[in-house]
Amino acid sequence: MEPNASEPVVPVAEPVQSTGAASPLIQATAIQHGTPDAHLRAFIANSDHPCPNCGYNLRGLRASACPECNQELRLTIGLVEPKLGAWLAGVLGLAVGAGFSLMMMGYLMFTAMLWATNPFQQADVIFVIVLPAVFMGACLLALLRNRGRFRKLALPIRIGVAVTCWLLTLANLTVFSIVIR
Ligand SMILES: [Zn+2]
Repeated sequence: MEPNASEPVVPVAEPVQSTGAASPLIQATAIQHGTPDAHLRAFIANSDHPCPNCGYNLRGLRASACPECNQELRLTIGLVEPKLGAWLAGVLGLAVGAGFSLMMMGYLMFTAMLWATNPFQQADVIFVIVLPAVFMGACLLALLRNRGRFRKLALPIRIGVAVTCWLLTLANLTVFSIVIR
């Protein structure tokens, strides 16, 4: 960034000089390090903002590092609300249901190998374990892949999707416990 001529020059630590002429590389690095971001400087010029690292008040800061803890600072843009709470709740809900069905499938495969039987021929095993595992796994995959699209939905719809995910898991566990006794 070009230094503004009307602004006071930021003091830069002098590089250690052993031979009289300073190394151009060290000097360039020192200037880069000490030059404050113009936006950052404007942002904290006349208002109180604590250093995110040590809490030191950065008002009127003239360098791009905190004078107290020496941490480099930068100005960033963030979302007002990340909108990921409902998405995470939905993912968790589906993961519990899909995870349970997959775990039961694994258990059945293990017992099938142990006793040389094929439990997957039974209709109730297909309907209560295999189908829920496939369906909930597909839902989980779809939700994971559409995080950006999900964020754009209205809040009631996002909450509705999250609740539906948990209801699917609840239905999955309920049907399982009724059929498999
Ligand atoms: Zn600090």
